[in-house]
Amino acid sequence: MSKYQVNEKGYYGQFGGAYIPEMLYPNVEELRQKYLDIIQEPSFQEEFNQLLRDYVGRPSPLYYAGRLSEKYGSNIYLKREDLNHTGAHKINNTIGQILLAQRLGKKRIIAETGAGQHGVATATVCALKGLECVVYMGAIDIERQAPNVARMKMMGAQVVPAQSGSKTLKDATNEALRDWINNPVDTHYIIGSVVGPHPYPDMVARFQSIISEETKKQLLEKTGKSNPDYAIACVGGGSNAAGMFYHFVDEESVKLIAVEAAGLGVDSGESAATTALGKEGVLHGSRSLLMQTPDGQVIEPYSISAGLDYPGIGPQHAWLFKSGRGNYVSVTDKEAMEAGLLLTRLEGIIPAIESAHALAYLEKMDLKPDDTVVICLSGRGDKDLDNYMKYFGF
Ligand SMILES: *Cc1c(COP(=O)(O)O)cnc(C)c1O
Repeated sequence: MSKYQVNEKGYYGQFGGAYIPEMLYPNVEELRQKYLDIIQEPSFQEEFNQLLRDYVGRPSPLYYAGRLSEKYGSNIYLKREDLNHTGAHKINNTIGQILLAQRLGKKRIIAETGAGQHGVATATVCALKGLECVVYMGAIDIERQAPNVARMKMMGAQVVPAQSGSKTLKDATNEALRDWINNPVDTHYIIGSVVGPHPYPDMVARFQSIISEETKKQLLEKTGKSNPDYAIACVGGGSNAAGMFYHFVDEESVKLIAVEAAGLGVDSGESAATTALGKEGVLHGSRSLLMQTPDGQVIEPYSISAGLDYPGIGPQHAWLFKSGRGNYVSVTDKEAMEAGLLLTRLEGIIPAIESAHALAYLEKMDLKPDDTVVICLSGRGDKDLDNYMKYFGF
């Protein structure tokens, strides 16, 4: 049993658990009792793998970035999650959860979304399976993310504005939880990252672990070794990083680097660098690290990339950080935007601004000519073109 994976009580070190209102207990408990049996069934595995292959387009390539490698004097590989159907890694998880929901006999799916990426990935699999889909989204986010709202509606999802509080992600999460409490029998709640009460962080990490499973095989084919020297990923809630780290956490020779969004700077007051700024506390049903005031109010995070704009991290990341197994770092908006442009100019790949955070850390590393580096390119930059154009004044 790995000391970095969840234990039978639902904890990673002191982090994790299920801190939920009593009214939610039956829903979460049903999931906890059944998730491992269901996802290990051969028929589940068969359908999951078939959809990942024929619908998502997996395995995603592991691309040797020649010009980027030359620039940094090392060997840099990109795990191309940007080439997945819907443009990011999030679909790996929503496919897994929709198959689980079906096997639990659920007829209705709910989700919350901030930037809309998880909402789109959820609406997509609901269309695929013909299940009713309700996505809660802050009223302000609905205005800011019109193209993703349109995608969700086109796929038949109902997008419900959250009008309370700051009208953003945390308010949408509260609405989704209220819905789930009121519809315990027929509804499954698809959470989009390795956050929330146990068993969500472990379940989502298992669905995303396909990223490192494929990477190991692909690296072995290309280099003769299945482990890199470094595995790097950006962290919002932490699901693409959890997937990229999954099969490497017990290989202590692989250095794990998780890159958070420093926004305008870690000490600027406009940041989402949770490990640098966060304290232990409970957020969205689990004990982890989160950005909070001394009296425990959650601090509004900021990042230029909507997908990293989250005030906490999943409990496994809190533990990888606390135990010293992972190196948690941050880069600013400016560093990320420049790294996004650099990849575009050197390799002809426009990355999501989230993924550009992982790339930006290359500047700060002391890489050697025979090091092998794998970076999770979590998503493509099409959704970010407006942002890139405004930033660079194209
Ligand atoms: C949502 C998103 C992220 C951040 O979420 P994680 O759960 O931390 O992976 C990163 N990259 C892209 C492209 C995203 O859409």
